[in-house]
Amino acid sequence: MRHILILGGTTEARQLAAALAAEPSVRVTSSLAGRVAEPRLPVGQVRVGGFGGAAGLADWLREQQVHTLIDATHPFAQVISRNAAEAAAAVHVPLLTLRRPSWVPVEGDRWHFADSLAGAAELLPGLGTRALLTTGRLGLAEFVGVTGVHLVARSVERPDPPLPPRLTVLLERGPFTRDGERAVFREHRIDLLVTKDSGGAATAPKLAVARELGLPVVVVRRPAACAGGTVVTDVPQALGELGLH
Ligand code: NAP
Repeated sequence: MRHILILGGTTEARQLAAALAAEPSVRVTSSLAGRVAEPRLPVGQVRVGGFGGAAGLADWLREQQVHTLIDATHPFAQVISRNAAEAAAAVHVPLLTLRRPSWVPVEGDRWHFADSLAGAAELLPGLGTRALLTTGRLGLAEFVGVTGVHLVARSVERPDPPLPPRLTVLLERGPFTRDGERAVFREHRIDLLVTKDSGGAATAPKLAVARELGLPVVVVRRPAACAGGTVVTDVPQALGELGLH
């Protein structure tokens, strides 16, 4: 049996795990960081929690006799991707990175790019008065100093303090639909959207709704790429690289 470890936490990682679990010649393990109390679990074997840096991951790969490591983590999860590259090199395990492409603005989009969450926070007061913030609960502290803008922050779990003073929290988990997003924009009188450049279809409808309504969007650029080994952008390509389809 060929043992494949998927570093997950994304829709694509779950899709890949499901495809690999159906392969009789493969044993698949998915790894989750453990940030969410009730994660959407992938099919197959799952382990949860950090490895203890690149060295810990390298030990795990050796001990569990992993044949291929797949980094299918979120494009903003920089540390684990760096660790994956280091660990795979250290123990000579092939590394495949599954990274969905960036979103690209189309006609009608009013995107303002920021290099960080802090940079995004600085842009808000000049662009709107009620912002839908979809950058995740862990980065909310970066928006504590924002004045003159009511923030409607959407996250899977309730965020911890410190929190921005003018805040509504929406506890919701994607994927989202265009109709659903329209309703959120309407109900909360949203006039500005803030997002990471996560890419992918599951959370893209908010961009289409902002375009429809002619609203500005602050897009946080991805951190400097850390993608080791062969890089693919979707599950069929990943299966092809693994010689499975
Ligand atoms: P990160 O900053 O790159 O990683 C921090 C530490 O968390 C890593 O050093 C590692 O601990 C542990 N870790 C991260 N991903 C792991 C995984 N899949 N399995 C086991 N340990 C993992 O990560 P992050 O940005 O906090 O993201 C954490 C997880 O959430 C990732 O799996 C990612 O795919 C998912 N996610 C992140 C975002 C985002 O915006 N960052 C959005 C959606 C989903 P050790 O060093 O101890 O091994």
